[in-house]
Amino acid sequence: LYYYSLLLTTLFFGCTTNQQLDPVEQKVEELLSKMTIEEKIGQTALRGTSSRVKGDLPESLKEAVRKGEIGAFLNIMNTDYVDELQRIAVEESPNKIPLIFGRDVIHGFKTMFPIPLAVAATWDPKQAEETGRVSAFEGTSSGVNWTFAPMLDIARDSRWGRIAESPGEDPLLGSLMGAAYVKGFQGDDLTSKTSMIACAKHFLGYGAAIGGRDYNTAIIHDPLLYNVYIPPFKAAIAENVQTFMSSFNELNGVPASGDKKIMMDLLRGKMDFDGFVVSDWNSVTEMIPHGYAKDEKHAAELGTNAGVDMEMTSESYEKHIKELLEEGKLSLTQLDFLVKNILRVKIRMGLFETPYRDKNHDGGLYANEHLQKAKVAAAKSIVVLKNENQVLPLTKNKKVALIGPLADAPLDQMGTWSFDGEKEHSHTPLMALKGQVIGFEKTLDFSRDKNKKSFQKAIDLAKKADVILFVGGEEAILSGEAHSRAEIDLPGVQEELILELSKLGKPIVLTIMAGRPITIGKIKDKLDGIVMAWHGGTMAGPALNEVLYAEMQPEGRLPVTWPKTSGQLPYYYNHKNTGRPAMEEKFVSMYEIPVGAWQSSLGNESHYLDAGYLPEYPFGYGLTYSTIEYSATTISSEKIKEGDELTVEVSIKNTGDYDAVETVQLYVQDVVGSITRPVRELKDYKKVEIKKGEQKKVTFKLHTDQLKFYNRDLEYVLEKGDFKVWTAPHALGGKPVAFELM
Ligand code: BGC
Repeated sequence: LYYYSLLLTTLFFGCTTNQQLDPVEQKVEELLSKMTIEEKIGQTALRGTSSRVKGDLPESLKEAVRKGEIGAFLNIMNTDYVDELQRIAVEESPNKIPLIFGRDVIHGFKTMFPIPLAVAATWDPKQAEETGRVSAFEGTSSGVNWTFAPMLDIARDSRWGRIAESPGEDPLLGSLMGAAYVKGFQGDDLTSKTSMIACAKHFLGYGAAIGGRDYNTAIIHDPLLYNVYIPPFKAAIAENVQTFMSSFNELNGVPASGDKKIMMDLLRGKMDFDGFVVSDWNSVTEMIPHGYAKDEKHAAELGTNAGVDMEMTSESYEKHIKELLEEGKLSLTQLDFLVKNILRVKIRMGLFETPYRDKNHDGGLYANEHLQKAKVAAAKSIVVLKNENQVLPLTKNKKVALIGPLADAPLDQMGTWSFDGEKEHSHTPLMALKGQVIGFEKTLDFSRDKNKKSFQKAIDLAKKADVILFVGGEEAILSGEAHSRAEIDLPGVQEELILELSKLGKPIVLTIMAGRPITIGKIKDKLDGIVMAWHGGTMAGPALNEVLYAEMQPEGRLPVTWPKTSGQLPYYYNHKNTGRPAMEEKFVSMYEIPVGAWQSSLGNESHYLDAGYLPEYPFGYGLTYSTIEYSATTISSEKIKEGDELTVEVSIKNTGDYDAVETVQLYVQDVVGSITRPVRELKDYKKVEIKKGEQKKVTFKLHTDQLKFYNRDLEYVLEKGDFKVWTAPHALGGKPVAFELM
């Protein structure tokens, strides 16, 4: 981790290459010198909707490519068209510049892996890498060589539909996941015909949409931006990500797709990114309704001058760049800058040497190896949240009644952004559990179904069982882009059904398949087991089966805070203290306050009268089937100085009946700072396999570089003073130990 942060720091503060000597840059310059203005404009054009061609490939499109008027396409899912358009580009266009073909291959192409939020719950970057690798391997067979992933927007509000596509709320976890996806998608070799160039998106602040309402205004003060929202993007650059996407939202008053400070000063300057930036879908012309551009031409002026190199779908660059040049509103140097960024990436992809997809590469769609990897990722993402009376793991001698709308929902289990995954290939929980359960009642046709007519059938089945396994949650369509929810509870009448079933007095295990945490306050005490299985992809069923029956031990941990009620959102573990002194008192609910009495503040974590200050489950939370005891955290020294490495140790013991994988987390609090500091920040973690009865010492090396942060003047500083450090099984556990940085 130390070297990783060193690498990031080096990259962030800029290490320029001698471009004169670089053959890639030479080739860029050479090409540029031969290009007409029209061809340059062509390179900035990413054609969208009009390219969703059906029937014959339109002559007009071929002609545009022939003239060099288009640089890239998205969503052409016909390999003959891909081949033909590329042939025209490299054989008939003036400078024979190849095209790039983009698509949202987010968490799988045909074999769907779990949604990114679920992959983050594995706390295992290797799972993100495998997702990227298999997705790219399969997807490149269709001619796609550019994916619009990974999405690296830190998300602190589960109402936001796209939290499903995010790495969660933590900058460290987000950075590790982001880098791993990039590595997976891009492979070891950008020129390989099984690699896709990746796209770090959405730059910047999209995940901070106020109220979790998609596309909404984001207001993030600079230190917060640098300390929390930017790190995953930095990590993607360190992993050589080739493209960035500018976001839809306005950030602090300026739409990102027209923000020169963000795209030039920050991204190209401080962050030293030298690939290209693509706008989001129409995000350039969306600056008009934002009230930032007066018309399309103005939008093109703002986008180009801000350094958004390629325009997705809205075509304002194609229409207006020439005029802007003539009017002096865009300089030729700036246009050349955009074009160079795009050409550089095309050269790095080896497209000038081998422009075509490999026709012998069939992608191994749904190959057994891919399915197995998808299953492992899905299983590792499953988080056990509640397990009382040892209801879990299930055992073969227990009669299980399978009930609920997500138990056999092949499309929904794939989750959001699974364009190419086919539901016919999904292995559902019902399919995986069939031999083991005494019967199945879907009861509700889909998660929002309000029809109670089949309740009785479910109750009749449940009467015959020892355990009720309810697989519910959210349909895929309830999360994802433009699918925010104000109430993130179980939709429809699922809660009512669970309450009915609970009257039988039998243990109930609720498995939630969803794109976000789901509030469960009304039913929690009726449940013995709660298992978060997310939208687990093609292999969600077998993965669930293996975890429920302990063929694989549960090891998922929450990558986001799980609220008690939507009203607590936004909610995140690394918040600040208030000015109220810390107190030990327990929260008093508003119903316990005597009439007329005034309840004083209950401590430095601000709270609600009707929800307290605690979440349902904290960030980092997740149970094993065993019990893991932590010793007190010890440190190698109570005083350290800059450059030192503090050794932090804890001993964990598996005192239960199962082998386990424990995720030991290392948190730090910087007690006093020149700006207020979070109450805790995750600095490192280790996933530890620990057999039953075993005891293990877990050692962390905390380097002083890991204590640095961006201050008010955006300097990356190490501030002397008091710190606390501790190990814990989740963000609200553990006991701090003090040390001083001298
Ligand atoms: C999304 C992007 C996506 C693009 C292309 C937009 O609506 O915000 O994340 O890559 O569409 O499909």
